[in-house]
Amino acid sequence: MAASASGSPSLSPSQLAMLAGVGEERTAGVGDVLYRVGDATYPFIAIQEGEVAVLDAAGNELVRHGASGFLGELNLLSGQTVFVTVVVTRPLRYVAVDRDVLRGLLFEDGPLSDLVLTTFMSRRAALQRVEGLGIEIVGPRSSGATMRMLDFARANRLPFTWHDESPSGGEEAPLVRLPGGAELKQPSSGDVLRALGVGRELERREEVDLLVVGGGPAGLAAAVYGASEGLDTLLVEGTALGGQAGSSSRIENYLGFPAGISGAELTSRAVSQARKFGARPATPYRAVALDPGDGRHVVHLEEGHEVVARAVVLATGAEYRRLPLADLSAYEGTSVFYAAGPPEAQVCGAARVAVVGGGNSAGQAAVWLARGGALVTLLHRRGYLRETMSDYLIQELERYGVAVRDRSEIAELHGEGGRLEAVTLTDGNRLPFSFLFLFLGARPCTEWVGDTVARHDDGFVLTGDAAGAAYLLETSVPGIFAAGDVRSGSTKRCAAAVGEGSMAVQFVHEHLAAQPAGAR
Ligand SMILES: Cc1cc2nc3c(=O)[nH]c(=O)nc-3n(C[C@H](O)[C@H](O)[C@H](O)COP(=O)(O)OP(=O)(O)OC[C@H]3O[C@@H](n4cnc5c(N)ncnc54)[C@H](O)[C@@H]3O)c2cc1C
Repeated sequence: MAASASGSPSLSPSQLAMLAGVGEERTAGVGDVLYRVGDATYPFIAIQEGEVAVLDAAGNELVRHGASGFLGELNLLSGQTVFVTVVVTRPLRYVAVDRDVLRGLLFEDGPLSDLVLTTFMSRRAALQRVEGLGIEIVGPRSSGATMRMLDFARANRLPFTWHDESPSGGEEAPLVRLPGGAELKQPSSGDVLRALGVGRELERREEVDLLVVGGGPAGLAAAVYGASEGLDTLLVEGTALGGQAGSSSRIENYLGFPAGISGAELTSRAVSQARKFGARPATPYRAVALDPGDGRHVVHLEEGHEVVARAVVLATGAEYRRLPLADLSAYEGTSVFYAAGPPEAQVCGAARVAVVGGGNSAGQAAVWLARGGALVTLLHRRGYLRETMSDYLIQELERYGVAVRDRSEIAELHGEGGRLEAVTLTDGNRLPFSFLFLFLGARPCTEWVGDTVARHDDGFVLTGDAAGAAYLLETSVPGIFAAGDVRSGSTKRCAAAVGEGSMAVQFVHEHLAAQPAGAR
């Protein structure tokens, strides 16, 4: 990939010529604004000649792009509100390519797709680190709704700034200010996403070939394969596309990425890929009930929406367990976290941090935080870490100076105003920690299906022989499949989830083909 002086990649002359063939060639003078903060959408812009500056809402310059460069970040594909303003700094000749035309090109042109998607994702990651960009969340640390909104923004990788204060005029927190200045008072997460143009607005009743419930690796894989193989595919996700994997700082064992890949990057790529093939990811829409039918299944969503589908893939994964401590929620989001990504690592540099758990995800988080400069102690219940953690990770813990305490459980938290100062262990030891990261194992997100499909005693969904089903990934109800962590007996790993999600689509086709003509 060619790179210009500013570190932004360049389009080759043949790519520029091809874009000129499908887009509209335009010119603009110095001082002209190509698009601005708060705009609903913008075209893909490839620069033939001249230069532009990208500014934040306050007018601070973030970067410049010149000849052969191109503009845009993830919101161009997701349709999300514009976070930056672009102003011409040298007379400009450029090609404007409509979003839908670009989508078609990305579908057909591998090298262009690679260049554009990689750049869009790294720009989004860079924007997330810029202060004062994106949405503003106003609300004090003591407000649970504000803390939930912050979690939601983090999980959805929205650039945001938090003002730890009560909204003026005695309004209830949080207040969310959108790019462009519009204010939402005490919005739901769905209100924010839809106001940003990210959240797809579903009809009260949707009818599709394939409904995928859950937008983690399994669900995204099912959506990519379903849509690319011609099924009208809708994916509903209750929180943030990417699932558990999206919150993983580094996935080291995913095939094809010898240097590892961040969960956010892997799943952002998958989301872009799903959109590229025409799958419709809709978020945040939580499934609350399943109503199996003969040939048509109905999934009820929060806020009264319902989706009628010829086949359903359950890919709702699992959620991390919490510690049974009375005041835990007072620290969640400020000092207690369930994921360790770049924002958390930034907050924890040079602080005393405890990672709780003996599994590989705890080990990975501990290493990641230690590499970011935190003083990390890993607390786990058993006598030997080797019983639960891979050898390579135990070596990494040593290499990065992570202290390991065996047979350690937290009995009490100490701190004030959501800021943790210390913990007391069940053996009475008091240890000073400013942050806790909890990796305590998972429980399946299956309450919402009730007893409509057969589940194991532990709540995971049974499939194949165990469910008396025709296909390996089919549940006890024909036409309803389960893939990934939610499935009883599955390997709780990213690659396994992706494999199952893709494989489920094969069974969906076989199931649909076996349906009587009238039901197709
Ligand atoms: C911190 C961390 C590090 C990890 N590191 C690795 C690693 O290095 N290598 C590896 O292979 N694996 C790793 N894993 C495990 C891996 O991420 C999981 O195995 C994988 O994400 C499972 O994918 P899934 O799609 O089955 O489920 P999930 O990723 O759990 O996704 C399920 C999705 O469904 C959504 N959902 C739940 N209920 C509903 C509902 N009712 N309606 C709508 N949506 C719903 C959830 O919000 C979620 O987004 C890690 C996990 C974590 C948390």
